[in-house]
Amino acid sequence: MMKLHTQTLSELSAGLERREFTSVELTKALLDRIATHNDKLNVFVTITKDEALAAAERADAARARGDVGALNGLPIVHKDIFCTRGVKTSCGSRMLDNFISPYDATVVEKLAAAGAVVLGKTNMDEFAMGSSNETSFYGPVKNPWNLDCSPGGSSGGSSAAVAARFAPAATGTDTGGSIRQPAALTGTVGIKPTYGRVSRYGMIAFASSLDQAGVITRSAEDAARLLGVMAGFDERDSTSIDQPVPDYTAEIGRSIEGLRVGIVRQHFDAGLDEQTGVRVKEAIAALESMGATTVEVNLPSIDLSVPTYYVVAPAECSSNLSRFDGVRFGYRAKDPEDLLDLYCRSRGEGFGDEVKRRIMTGAYVLSAGYYDAYYLKAQQVRALIAEDFKRAFAEVDVIAGPTAPAPAFRLGDKVDDPIQMYLNDIYTIGANLAGLPAISVPCGFVDNLPVGLHLVGPHFAESDLLRCAHQYQLQTDFHRACPEAFQ
Ligand code: GLN
Repeated sequence: MMKLHTQTLSELSAGLERREFTSVELTKALLDRIATHNDKLNVFVTITKDEALAAAERADAARARGDVGALNGLPIVHKDIFCTRGVKTSCGSRMLDNFISPYDATVVEKLAAAGAVVLGKTNMDEFAMGSSNETSFYGPVKNPWNLDCSPGGSSGGSSAAVAARFAPAATGTDTGGSIRQPAALTGTVGIKPTYGRVSRYGMIAFASSLDQAGVITRSAEDAARLLGVMAGFDERDSTSIDQPVPDYTAEIGRSIEGLRVGIVRQHFDAGLDEQTGVRVKEAIAALESMGATTVEVNLPSIDLSVPTYYVVAPAECSSNLSRFDGVRFGYRAKDPEDLLDLYCRSRGEGFGDEVKRRIMTGAYVLSAGYYDAYYLKAQQVRALIAEDFKRAFAEVDVIAGPTAPAPAFRLGDKVDDPIQMYLNDIYTIGANLAGLPAISVPCGFVDNLPVGLHLVGPHFAESDLLRCAHQYQLQTDFHRACPEAFQ
């Protein structure tokens, strides 16, 4: 039998179906692997061993009865931003270090109903604010390709879990790039669907108009499979979209002959590491050799995406995070003198520096006198960026470019320079501001560190993105490369 941890979700699914192994055997194998290697990487906030084994037993029993869900017995991990009933849900923060969720997020509920087995909750930047996992209360996650480097963020625990073969798939969330950038930096596939495609219910809010759940896997085929289960209307999320979910796996097999691929010149300007640019151009040439055509497209306002995001996202976070007051749930300061002292110290002690920086920025841009100059202006620029994409998608089916400006950077290198850290999302943020689906696919290496190809599509074009990524993966094997220490 092939080593179980090396197999993709689809391969494992076939093995379970052929009764080559049971879900309990598979779950035990991965839990053992996690027990041996997790300390090197700091991937997990919580390992849910007992729950996982119980779920695996249920999955095996269901299979014996012939009652098989789409993900029956398949192991996954959840970013610790998704509420999980009876299990700590920390969001990477001291504020929620003591929080046991009383309910499941819709994503968690749907994946469980399909038979998935959850191995644990993954480490992340505090409240998903960060690009390196270094803002986590639980300490940074390390990149399996080089333990001195960051696995990206904020879904860095999820990306490292998949890259290190702890699990074939992980959930993530993406507000400005937090699924795609960590996927790029760890050589995994990460997809952020159209805003509203996957329910946000039970996903701890950062910036509600940008937050979207998605997945990190090793193959686009696996991403299609999971997304099909997660997507769909949810009446508990007021911005969830009531549209049927296509069968993503049914469509990935079609060739990309005739697909029109847009290239944005600014994406290859100064700011992009030269070798990273070379890998991305090679990937685009590969798409052309598979029958796609390339067209240059212009996104005149895209250069404003980072500053726009850093007004809108903090504004929304300052409002969303006001619920953490030390009274209702989460961290509470000891021996408060009065109510004000309780609020101030609970928040002062419960939140880390980056979260405080965002809350202060957000409160500032929303304050009377500055609202028009900053928040309103940012909303106007956001509309311009969305229009740029709309115009471009009249001419092309997808836009291709780099996911991140360079391969994984060293832990500690950017942590004291917020602007440098924020610039890591320069290519990903536009899709969030415009609510568009986007995917990152491994497209090679620079100095033995993975590089990601970024594909953005019009609203609801997940199928095209997955198909393009899958067809590319049929021609390449970058996604099969495994970090040496984790083979
Ligand atoms: N790195 C960006 C930020 O810190 C994006 C984070 C995310 O997508 N959750 O806001």
